[in-house]
Amino acid sequence: MTDLVQAALDFGFSHAALLDPARLRVLVEVRQMCAADRCQAFNRSWSCPPASGTLEESRATIACYHTGLIVQTTAVLDDSYDYETMMAAGEEQKQRLIDFREELWPSYPDLITLGNGACTICSLCTYPNAPCRYPDRMVQSMEAFGLVVSDVCTDNNLGYYYGPSTITYTGCYLLA
Ligand code: SF4
Repeated sequence: MTDLVQAALDFGFSHAALLDPARLRVLVEVRQMCAADRCQAFNRSWSCPPASGTLEESRATIACYHTGLIVQTTAVLDDSYDYETMMAAGEEQKQRLIDFREELWPSYPDLITLGNGACTICSLCTYPNAPCRYPDRMVQSMEAFGLVVSDVCTDNNLGYYYGPSTITYTGCYLLA
């Protein structure tokens, strides 16, 4: 796949940009937010802390990659209470992130998929009672990696806020 950004846009993402893994900043503060459990995923998924591993492991994993891709889905809201559109756009982004991975895999067999929040491949995660059902297909959490989603975008010259009455969901791939 020669032009990754164009391929992502053609696939339906609203915005995309190349990601330089060397620019990813792994922050302990993000892990502290995970532990506060506002998203109710802490200690409930193989993709989230503590199961997702230490920040040192995140840094070591990132160091193995030299290229990546950020992808976003943006939706226009009727008003700030338009939860229906917010939810729909979030689901659209999750599914597109998984579907586009199928396109990338032949060229990037070692890719890692990072989404916004916990993996939702299964309707109920097996954690902690049984091993992950699909370890090769799990969508890892950007936050569990210690990444601030808005920083990942701005550090790679991609917007994060596209104007009033919009919502944007972000994911990325570490490719090779
Ligand atoms: S693939 Fe299924 S079992 Fe594995 S982390 Fe995702 S939701 Fe949990």
